[in-house]
Amino acid sequence: MKNYDVQNIGFTVLGAGRSGLAAAKLLKNSGANVFLSDASPKEKLLYFKEDEFTKLGIPYELGKNSEKIYDAEYFVTSPGIPPNSEIFLKAFDRGIKVLSEIEVAYRFCDVPIIAITGTNGKTTTTELTGQILRDAGFDVQVCGNVGLAFSEIVPKLMKRSVVVLEVSSFQLEFISEFRPEVAMILNITQDHIDWHGSFEKYAIAKYRINLNQTSDDLFVINYDDTLLKENLDNFRGIKGAFSGKVIPDGPVSNKAYLKNGSIYYNSGKDEMIIDTKDIFIRGTHNVMNSMAAIIAAKRFNVSNESIAKTLRTFRGVEHRIEPVREIKGVKFYNDSKATNYDSLYVALESFEKNIILIMGGKKGENNFEIVDELMRKRVKMICAIGQSKDAISDRYAHDIKVKKFDTLEEAVEAAYKKSKKGDFVLFSPGYKSFDMFDNYEHRGKAFKEIVNNLDEK
Ligand code: ADP
Repeated sequence: MKNYDVQNIGFTVLGAGRSGLAAAKLLKNSGANVFLSDASPKEKLLYFKEDEFTKLGIPYELGKNSEKIYDAEYFVTSPGIPPNSEIFLKAFDRGIKVLSEIEVAYRFCDVPIIAITGTNGKTTTTELTGQILRDAGFDVQVCGNVGLAFSEIVPKLMKRSVVVLEVSSFQLEFISEFRPEVAMILNITQDHIDWHGSFEKYAIAKYRINLNQTSDDLFVINYDDTLLKENLDNFRGIKGAFSGKVIPDGPVSNKAYLKNGSIYYNSGKDEMIIDTKDIFIRGTHNVMNSMAAIIAAKRFNVSNESIAKTLRTFRGVEHRIEPVREIKGVKFYNDSKATNYDSLYVALESFEKNIILIMGGKKGENNFEIVDELMRKRVKMICAIGQSKDAISDRYAHDIKVKKFDTLEEAVEAAYKKSKKGDFVLFSPGYKSFDMFDNYEHRGKAFKEIVNNLDEK
């Protein structure tokens, strides 16, 4: 662990979520004066353990942010607080510096970091990159936005470790020295606009992943994302890019692209990595995610054979087009993470035909235009559930067979009953889960349990 001298320096950690708690512990164990404050009451804080903090000697307050928080040199922020909040304005006024949790962890980290951001595909690409490096013999620590916080893994790092870090735009807003050896932006589309204030500000927060990179570091973008491609010259470092089409010679030196159905890597000459048909995880979006991971892995000299082997076997992340079961030639997939129509679209795109789609959830935006064409071409039947089932039925019942159900169980049973060998029963809701479930994980687990309990017909 790198020695970041925080002896007797005052830090107020805002937010007792996973990353805040980890940062508080890391700082305290390194000699800082830490105060933890969270405006939520204790019952809402899933990870906070009173005993542990008392034992560590970290004072805290819950259910409020009192004046005491300003008695510090640094704030460590939590994604819950938007950058233009009163709390920060007041802090800036008093000369308090604001750091995100990844900035804190970075200052203790002395091994290479691969940092991955983007609107969609972060978790999948982070896990896949981690797996490729692990299979190639590296000690890999995957952390960040989901799973373990960066501050949690820092004390476990060894000389040969590599950190693969999923980074959100929230975390990037308050970095100052954070410098990953490899930084990637997978795509930027409209999302989280409320938090950042505008699309422009959201994009600029993502660009900050490149802020401190030097000419030796690698910066990777999606070449098919017009915004990123047009801005490429403004970024620092060795340029990497991936695309569904061959990338012409020019400013990009480390490329991955699709040619005749295969992924090629090129940093001077074409190297065939894998036929896309052999990649275990389905869909064009996952080909893009795979190409991003390949560029990162090549930076660490992983062999093409080893990369291809991992791509053939990596089964993806839970709730993202996750294979659940096959019964007599009918394959069941759990895509509960699809909480909007962009995700539903990429799921439909991942199956050429014979889809029996289970969808619906909490009433929300019905962006039917995005999926209309694929729905009509690829979906045999829709089993609609949740608050949005009527809207779905109104839209598609004249073109596709649509049935409405009160429970997920009934929908799964009906889908199974109507299925034939070669069909795909896809649970890709397209809406949030809160009308019937606690969250998308709960919804996905419920689906899997129902499928696993089906009797063979
Ligand atoms: P994130 O961590 O950014 O939310 P995930 O890997 O968890 O990303 O994927 C979430 C959803 O985003 C997936 O279920 C899929 O619908 C969609 N997705 C994944 N990768 C991409 C991509 N490269 N481009 C567009 N959509 C994607």
